[in-house]
Amino acid sequence: VDDLIRKSDKLSVVAQLAAGVAHEIRNPLTTVKGFLQLFQKEQEVKPFYLSLVMEELERVEAIIYEYLTLAKPNVESVFSKIDIQVLLEQILTLTKAQSNMNNVTLEFEYEQVPAIYGLEKQLKQVFINLLRNAIEALTDKGTIHVRILKHPDNQVCIQVEDNGCGIPSERIDRLGEPFYSTKEKGTGLGLMVCYKIIEHHNGVLNIYSEAGKGTTLEVILPASN
Ligand code: ADP
Ligand code: MG
Repeated sequence: VDDLIRKSDKLSVVAQLAAGVAHEIRNPLTTVKGFLQLFQKEQEVKPFYLSLVMEELERVEAIIYEYLTLAKPNVESVFSKIDIQVLLEQILTLTKAQSNMNNVTLEFEYEQVPAIYGLEKQLKQVFINLLRNAIEALTDKGTIHVRILKHPDNQVCIQVEDNGCGIPSERIDRLGEPFYSTKEKGTGLGLMVCYKIIEHHNGVLNIYSEAGKGTTLEVILPASN
């Protein structure tokens, strides 16, 4: 599937995914409907059951949200010059609140690198997804390093490194496959969206990981000049 998705063009990926999305949201919706039918007969509804219904609906919401990121590439289709340092600083400001709450140390290091050409919203989505995954992989004493590095051949490298749970080597190949998630509330769409966006920018997304030690996601993008 992974290979198929990577090789096929954006449109058919979107079409393939639509079928998957329909399938994935049917289960939680069936659950929600079942509960609502039950509630109709009850005098009082236990908060626990209400929270189950809410969780199912949140899952549906998350799947649709991540699908739309991919299905609506045309809201912004003209590439513009982007200072990747400024873009990452904006995202890190947003992420700080969440990481503080989770006791995560966030370190940002950067080298001076040339600008890149890209779609700002989509690239933001990539780094938001990578940071979210990094935070979710951490347990205690979590640290995330975000680095901007010079890269040979007029390219720019961005790394997001965490010291979280890591990924066993036999699972690495499945990453980016739609709906592949090891999380109870995961959608399994985040990395696939990242792959598609980076590919659209003629870039590369690399994953280095060791189970129990941590993971580095590396994005390499061509510079604008
Ligand atoms: P989701 O986060 O909804 O599960 P993703 O597509 O973002 O979906 O990620 C797919 C899977 O890849 C995750 O469920 C997790 O198993 C693995 N993964 C991604 N990033 C990391 C990371 N930084 N550390 C450990 N595992 C990761
Ligand atoms: Mg994710």
